[in-house]
Amino acid sequence: MMRSYQYFAPGRINLIGEHLDYNGGIVLPAALTLGIRLTLTPRNDNTITLRSASHTETVQVNVADEWSYDTAYQWCNYPLGVLALMKQEGFDIPACDLYYTSDLPEGAGLSSSAAIEVVTAFALLHYTGNHFDRVWLANFCCEVENNYIGVQCGIMDQYTVALGKKDHALQIDCRNLKHAYVPAGLQDYQWLVMNTNKPRSLVRSEYNIRRQECERALKALQYINSSISTLCDASVHMLPLLPDEVIRRRARHVINEQKRVKDAIESLQKNDINSLGRLLNESHASLRDDYEVTGFELDTLVNAAQSSEGCAGARMTGAGFGGCAIALVHRDACTELIKRVGEEYKRKTGLTATFYQTGIGDGVHAIFA
Ligand code: ADP
Ligand code: MG
Repeated sequence: MMRSYQYFAPGRINLIGEHLDYNGGIVLPAALTLGIRLTLTPRNDNTITLRSASHTETVQVNVADEWSYDTAYQWCNYPLGVLALMKQEGFDIPACDLYYTSDLPEGAGLSSSAAIEVVTAFALLHYTGNHFDRVWLANFCCEVENNYIGVQCGIMDQYTVALGKKDHALQIDCRNLKHAYVPAGLQDYQWLVMNTNKPRSLVRSEYNIRRQECERALKALQYINSSISTLCDASVHMLPLLPDEVIRRRARHVINEQKRVKDAIESLQKNDINSLGRLLNESHASLRDDYEVTGFELDTLVNAAQSSEGCAGARMTGAGFGGCAIALVHRDACTELIKRVGEEYKRKTGLTATFYQTGIGDGVHAIFA
């Protein structure tokens, strides 16, 4: 029996700062303790096998093969994309069995795609004794997602999965990609992730529309004030200059949300749970009313949490139109809140929500047995 090597990459939530990455803003994500575990077992032949506990599809390839995206695959494009790009960059690909297990829901906005990319790249580079920098790793995996998988995500997901730190939020300035850690000890509170389990059918088309609306807002404001380089540079005083009511509301969300991120960083530094909770609630209201990316299911779930005992605040997280919400909940109130919110959500939407009591964990790492 060959010795195996184990690796872990987390999922992520964005604590606050939604739809700011493509507007040059500061976002505040955190890595979760939920994630994907990869077992790498070396082989003596020239074969790589791919297996996942959550999928029936298994794929076997030869290390000498050339891969390109194949719609016939269910999930194997993710690891194969990493392998293909590594080859392109001149790394040796070792013969091995790659086996994935996970407690992270797929397609729920917790970035399981970034987790599988990052854990695969990290494992192969670590096993082959390559030295690399985590920022490089994040950019490398982002390139896999953009150019191989064909999803135009920003850098937030892969950065958080690669650079996350236990009990810290990761502050990323999307204009220059500078990052810093913010201590996020929560006293007696914990993050609760709530999955609407609603298929996110609208997300791609509406996401593109929001990006275009923000570009229009920026162009209009730059026409008046040429010193603005991103929408996050603008101030609320400029909003009346935008003639279109919808565009004005989109810009108002971006500007106010950026202010909330800065306030949330201060709240975390002061360990002020109440003000952090208030900012979460305001963020959700802004995403619902000004940015219009929530929808009935997310609103129902978030409202139920916000009106429950022991909840400091709650908001949707991720792109919206389904996916997940987060709540900041007193640990003694969590069990009761899950029961109450679950029942109310089921009654109003007919869907069953899933709850994850998760901590803020470390970015990708090797697990030493
Ligand atoms: P999200 O990143 O929000 O979870 P995506 O649609 O971007 O959603 O990525 C989900 C895809 O990632 C899945 O459909 C699957 O192809 C792949 N994936 C995620 N986790 C696993 C896993 N444990 N095993 C195999 N494939 C996975
Ligand atoms: Mg994804």
